[in-house]
Amino acid sequence: MSKRNYMFLFVFIIMVLFPKPGSSTIHAEAANLIDSEVNLDTSSISLDGDWYMFQEQLLSPEQIKQRLDRLEGKIVTIPNSFDTHFDKVNSFATYTKRIDIPEEYIGRTFGIHVPFQYSAYRLYVDEKLVARNGTVGTNSEEHRAEMGPDTGYFVVNSPTVYVTMQVSSFDHIRGGFENSITFGLTSVINKEFYRTVTWTLFLNGSIFITGLFMFILSIYRREEKAYFIFGLFAMLISVRSLFAVPFIYTLMFLNIDWVWGTRLEYILTLLTSALYVIFLWKFHEKYFNKNVMYFIVSVHAVLVFVTLFTQPILFQDLYFKGMLFSIPYFIYVLYVIIISIKNQLTYAKLNVVGIIIIFIGFFNDYAVGQNLYQFYNLMLPAVMLYILIHVYIMGRDFAKYKNDTLILNEQLLTLNASLDRKVYKRTKELEKANAQLAKLAYIDGLTKVPNRHALNRQIEKMKLDSDNRCLPISVMMFDVDYFKQYNDHYGHIAGDEVLRQVAQAMESALPKDCFFARYGGEEFVIILKNASLDRAILLAEKVRKKIEREQIAHVKSEYEILTISVGVTTSTAPLEETDVNELIQEADELLYVSKRNGRNQVVY
Ligand code: GH3
Ligand code: MG
Ligand code: MG
Repeated sequence: MSKRNYMFLFVFIIMVLFPKPGSSTIHAEAANLIDSEVNLDTSSISLDGDWYMFQEQLLSPEQIKQRLDRLEGKIVTIPNSFDTHFDKVNSFATYTKRIDIPEEYIGRTFGIHVPFQYSAYRLYVDEKLVARNGTVGTNSEEHRAEMGPDTGYFVVNSPTVYVTMQVSSFDHIRGGFENSITFGLTSVINKEFYRTVTWTLFLNGSIFITGLFMFILSIYRREEKAYFIFGLFAMLISVRSLFAVPFIYTLMFLNIDWVWGTRLEYILTLLTSALYVIFLWKFHEKYFNKNVMYFIVSVHAVLVFVTLFTQPILFQDLYFKGMLFSIPYFIYVLYVIIISIKNQLTYAKLNVVGIIIIFIGFFNDYAVGQNLYQFYNLMLPAVMLYILIHVYIMGRDFAKYKNDTLILNEQLLTLNASLDRKVYKRTKELEKANAQLAKLAYIDGLTKVPNRHALNRQIEKMKLDSDNRCLPISVMMFDVDYFKQYNDHYGHIAGDEVLRQVAQAMESALPKDCFFARYGGEEFVIILKNASLDRAILLAEKVRKKIEREQIAHVKSEYEILTISVGVTTSTAPLEETDVNELIQEADELLYVSKRNGRNQVVY
């Protein structure tokens, strides 16, 4: 626990040890001399302390004056219940107290504020009835209780006023003049009352909205089941507090009678308590036994049932007595928390602080409810603190989650970008490789001139091209003479070298408007666009001569150098109507004519 939490505990202990005045000392006279130190302009005074009591008598202020003159009446300490005054729970009595007013306040308007009494009462100042709650009666038929804050106002005309309370109780576990009342200037009394109501409503509203927020959030984030329960718990506790001190429900819904008001207070308390158990179980799911949770919730359910169908005198008694049985439950919760801390469950320590605060509020309100001491109810501020702790936990978790997501997103984006770059680079490499492959596919590996695929593609291209498809073409087929013999004589390596040389020489002799390819083996082809047969023959002759001039020795040839034979043909129709393969065939046949006629010549 941090220093702050120790401080909280310390303050609480001090508050328990030194409760507000209400001691049992009996003074000779039940008078309240206003201390000149007290500034009535800024603060009210509590009327706790000595009062005259007339047991089982409902006396009017006049009657009391006569009795007091005869020195009758017993002095008792207020607030207290009938049974401490005269050993009865269901009874009635009249209480009186004298207040001495400082001279400067005579003529001012004062108020007496009664936050709540479980009993019915009539409040007089001197002879004037200034406030009442329920119906005061001498038996259970006459008597009718009501619960709710009330303030009586009056003008002070003399230095001494008598305050008289007629009280009856027949339907509550503790009847009597049970709760402190305060006296002061109207403005001060009103301000104090509104302050309590405003704070309660402010806390209530904050708790409700926070609860609603958690509830809605958890609906959309299904993994946050604990907060679903916690949201419900917060909303319910804010509704519950309307039915607890200062009983704001009596100001909001005037037609709820006190029995149902009390039932609702107890039922809502039980429901919030059950939800809290479920929350603790959900929050510490690993360590909180499910059956223990079921058991506690079942007990709560039974108590809700009992509260619905019995009178307050019975269920309140049962409730307060049953409180003892909650001790094992608190011990169990403590055990769960210790295990959670040992196992370093996230936020376990913060949660402990929250739980301690809730328990302090719970026990304080229980003790105040039992009149063990006089103090404020602490449950609401305690719950507010507890909710703040969880809002902090949730907020932090959420921010962390959001941050982590952002960081992950950024990393993902960076990865994506680098992936994009890599893909782009690889694609480029692939494209390049593909282009190279494509190029290789159309180039003859040995001679490095276009191959037969390239020839076919070229023909297709020319057929599609609007400039070329309407024009005729010429085809020349070339074949190296006696090449088999060359290979046989000089070897294949030399043969390859000669093929390369021949291809280069032929290519270098060609004009731009023709297409040249190795047709296969030692055969080559030239396609000449839009040329007359004469021009084709001239070109063929030029190529033949070019090879002749290369003077490549070939001892097995009759010419003793390497020569080529050529077949030339021209299409009569435009390219689009010509079967180029037929044309090639024709040129090939002409080529063989040259072979038969002694080779080294152009035939057309
Ligand atoms: P002709 O004068 O009638 O054309 O006779 P030839 O020997 O040249 O014709 P033939 O078609 O009988 O033989 C062609 C030879 O070309 C067969 C083959 O060994 C050779 N040849 C084909 N391609 C290659 C090649 O890539 N490298 C080498 N070294 N020789 C090849
Ligand atoms: Mg051949
Ligand atoms: Mg040949």
